[in-house]
Parts: sequence; structure tokens; C-alpha cells
Amino acid sequence: MKRRTFLALMAAGGGLLIAGRVYEYWQLVQEQAASAIPVLPAMPTPIPRADWEARPINHEAFNEYGFASETNPTGWLEYRDDLKSAYHTLSIHHSAVSRLAYETMRTIQGEHLDKRGWADIGYHFGIDPQGHIYTGRDLHVRGASVAGGNTGVIGVVLMGNFELEAPTDAQLIALQTLTNWLTETCALTHLAGHSELNPGITVCPGRFMQPYLDVLARGAGLKRTHTAS
Ligand SMILES: [Zn+2]
Repeated sequence: MKRRTFLALMAAGGGLLIAGRVYEYWQLVQEQAASAIPVLPAMPTPIPRADWEARPINHEAFNEYGFASETNPTGWLEYRDDLKSAYHTLSIHHSAVSRLAYETMRTIQGEHLDKRGWADIGYHFGIDPQGHIYTGRDLHVRGASVAGGNTGVIGVVLMGNFELEAPTDAQLIALQTLTNWLTETCALTHLAGHSELNPGITVCPGRFMQPYLDVLARGAGLKRTHTAS
């Protein structure tokens, strides 16, 4: 299948059944695997924090217990070793705010700093509806995206409410590109939707994203996980 066909099908949007979209997406991933010429775009340099006007890290954050990592088992922790030994799982999230609201990394960070009391945005990467990939929390610092299970887990958020709307084709392609890159860079082994790591307390990343997770994992050679680790 030609990529433009895939994109045309995606552009048809709400008229397609979700299963059909997942199948077309899987075909794209298969085409990538079989082709000597990359179908997916090369991993771009993520948009840096300065470009989305990230606020400074809050060293007084009341829910990350300061920066003394030896004494804060659930708070701020810096990975000092190679990232390949620090991580095992990629967790996928939605922002739960409709893309019609034009939410940004800055507004997500503001919520995490001001309402949740975290030291920084909790996610390591964000992907907007246009498929732009943003740098979030430093990859050398433990994220804050999964209750009680952030150690060794990278958090990626897609902007949108996927209980109400589907991810865009640009988001899916960017997410696959990012997932493949992170798998190699950090020697990941597993991929999980947030709700699989925190069952019963969240529906994140939403019912319109959930069907893509198997394909996303297979495209990157990751196993699926349904339990916190
Ligand atoms: Zn989540």
C-alpha cells in the first residue's frame, strides 16, 4: 500500500471503522519492515523545551519531595547509568483534553506544576495533533505518569481526548517513529497503555487509542504488558 493511500484513508476520518484504521496502520508498519526505503520518517530532533517556553523545574515541588533521590523512593530520581539499563517499558497516554482546545506542552506542564505539585511536566515526550514531537521531562529523570510504577517507565502523551476522538494519522506516525527510536536508544522491552499499568483508576489512553497499542508494539518489536513492574 502506498503511503498516500494510507493517508487518504486516514483523512476519511470518522467514516472509517476503528478496526479498518488499525488494519491500515498495521499495513504501513509491515511495509516499513519489508522496505529498504524507509516508509516512516526518520526520527526528528524533538522540539526543545525552550521552544515551548517550558517553565523552570520546581525544586520545592511538594509531591516530588525535593531532589535528594536517595531519600525519596517515589519522587524525583535521576538515572545516572546508561539509559539502556534504566528503562524497560514505554507507557502511552492521552492528555484527556480534546484537540479542539489547542492544548500545549506548556499548559500540561502548568497543570503538573501547579495542581499536582510535581517538579516538572510528568511526561518525557508529547505529540501534538500535527505530529510534532516535543521534549518533556529530561529522559535522565524518572517520569511521573503512572501511579506507583514510574521507575524504568518512559511516559509519552498524545494531545487529545481519545475517549471522544481518534488520534490523528500524523500522531500515529510520529508515535511509531518515536517508539522505534526509544526502543533502540533505551533498550526497551515492553509497551503498555496507562490503564494497563493502573487498572481500574484510569481509562487513559482512551478507547480510540487502545486498539493501536498492539500494532505499535509489534512495529517496534516490543512485548505488551498488562501489569505494573
Ligand atoms: Zn495516562
